[in-house]
Amino acid sequence: MRVLITGGAGFIGSHLTEAYLERGDEVYIIDNLSTGSMENIEFLQNDDRFRDRLFVHIDTILNHDTMLELIGICDTVFHLAAAVGVKYILDYPLESIKTNIQGTEKVLELCAKFRKKVLIASSSEVYGKHTHAPLVETDNIVYGPSSKFRWSYAASKLMDEFTALAYYRTGGLKVTIARLFNTIGIRQTGTYGMVVPRFIVQALKDDPLTVYGDGSQTRTFTGVKDVVRVFMALVENDESFGQVFNIGGIEEISMLDLAKKIIALTGSKSESVLIPYEEAYQADFEDMMRRVPSVEKVARLIGFKPHVNLDEILSEIVTFMR
Ligand code: UDP
Repeated sequence: MRVLITGGAGFIGSHLTEAYLERGDEVYIIDNLSTGSMENIEFLQNDDRFRDRLFVHIDTILNHDTMLELIGICDTVFHLAAAVGVKYILDYPLESIKTNIQGTEKVLELCAKFRKKVLIASSSEVYGKHTHAPLVETDNIVYGPSSKFRWSYAASKLMDEFTALAYYRTGGLKVTIARLFNTIGIRQTGTYGMVVPRFIVQALKDDPLTVYGDGSQTRTFTGVKDVVRVFMALVENDESFGQVFNIGGIEEISMLDLAKKIIALTGSKSESVLIPYEEAYQADFEDMMRRVPSVEKVARLIGFKPHVNLDEILSEIVTFMR
């Protein structure tokens, strides 16, 4: 099979690329290296087993001609290219909206034209600021005002979902939507705000762990390898088309407890410090205080169960970063 992965040089994209190459498929990547990096995929490019099956295009997904060519020759498309990370969205608000809305529209338009299967990576941000748990795919959503830019990401991803579902309804596009909750694993960088790589780097340097707000906000974390497994299974299942699926972890943990856990795991001399949100982000920042998925729907369709628990994933990342 020939697979196109937009954002293939990113954290999740590079793991998906590796999995398809290991399976014997051909992988085409398009990535503008805005948050992805060649380091994420160099080990694959240098692997003799994959040399003639991995094709990397450094370009933007907004380039119509490149996308026309790539989608034309591939069987299945994974659309992962997007502005990612709360910090990145706040630093580059316009670019983020354009990439997320126009980029996804381009991918969907061409997948519809060539009748190709496509998985769109959406985000748990779409749920907005709920505090109930677990979040179910059919839940209502609640956003803050447009003066709070964090919500531009949620709104743009929601628009991506609507566009995908409209292509499904009007033309029968084989599109699956994956709402990703916090995903972690090796090669994820803390540069754009992601909490786990940031805490681990801080702990390994014996620096203070920067817990934002009062640290009571919670998340669940999934290992990237579990996410990749689910992606691969979903596109093979015709019943996933026109559907939205949560993909996420099941162990809820507060950021203060996460910091404690990472300090213990690394044997670090660090301590946690509380940093007010307005210092960490911007004056008008609003956090999501709780984010826990229901994974029943994806479990029903493909039997999803996380293979590894939080301690195991964190230990793997710690070993890698050391
Ligand atoms: N966070 C933190 N310290 C950091 C980075 C993030 O306490 O150095 C918090 C952040 O405010 C949020 C949670 O960790 O409540 C997860 O943040 P991340 O950016 O990883 O993902 P999000 O769930 O916000 O998309």
